[in-house]
Amino acid sequence: MKLARFDNDRLGLVDDDEIIDVSTALDALPALSWPVPAGDWLIRHLEQLRGPIRKAAQSGARTALAGVTLRSPVANPSKIVAAPVNYRKHLEESRADEGINYGGHVRTIDELGVFLKSSTSLVGAGDGVVLSWTERRIDHELELAVIVGSEGYCIARNDARRHIAGYAIGLDMSIRGTEDRSFRKSLDSFTVLGPWLVSADELADCTDLTLTLSVNGQVRQQSSTAHLIWDVPKLIEYASSAYRLYPGDIILTGTPEGVAPVKPGDVMDCRIAGIGSMSVAIR
Ligand code: MN
Repeated sequence: MKLARFDNDRLGLVDDDEIIDVSTALDALPALSWPVPAGDWLIRHLEQLRGPIRKAAQSGARTALAGVTLRSPVANPSKIVAAPVNYRKHLEESRADEGINYGGHVRTIDELGVFLKSSTSLVGAGDGVVLSWTERRIDHELELAVIVGSEGYCIARNDARRHIAGYAIGLDMSIRGTEDRSFRKSLDSFTVLGPWLVSADELADCTDLTLTLSVNGQVRQQSSTAHLIWDVPKLIEYASSAYRLYPGDIILTGTPEGVAPVKPGDVMDCRIAGIGSMSVAIR
């Protein structure tokens, strides 16, 4: 299934070019009391909600997708894990372009490991990206996003798949400069997740998905997840060896080559095969 959050926190099931309001399925969620468990309450109960969602879809209001505002399909991730320089050609372009490396030596993912982005940087496709530091170079980074489905610590590579709830398109917006990665990539609206969550049962194989990003109609990034240096199971194994993963945690798997600056007024069209496409405005 393709599950979306839209308008004022409505839950939607995507059906071709329409969205079905299945918000009544949320009544099946257990009541929460303080302190709330880490992670996203909806994603934690996603499997139990499948029945109620199917039922709600039979009578839910249908709207054209084009007429709604898409929010992040994950509302409350406990953390956003991100992979630096996880495509060979992006490593090469980063080393060649002083506008990216700022005179520093660009290390490999084997040397760097993964890093964290602020969970408050998260927005949906319809929210758009706000460039608050317009005097600096700010780049798009298109990435396959993996959404964790179940809690786990020290997850073995062979178990990684069963901890995945689904996939989405991710944007890891980045200020170029000398500051720490987590700072440069954690500004409000600098993580875009969308257009919806495609459940793992619907996207059985994520090892060769074509990713494409265009800005104002011009293709800038085009690659395949087949070129990931650390694949998805490796990222889950590595990240969970340090911190417990919770339902709704987002893993940004790294960007391929073609990163480039954006400016207010630009529109990024992002597409990943098997997931869908989204238009994201820069403000
Ligand atoms: Mn990135």
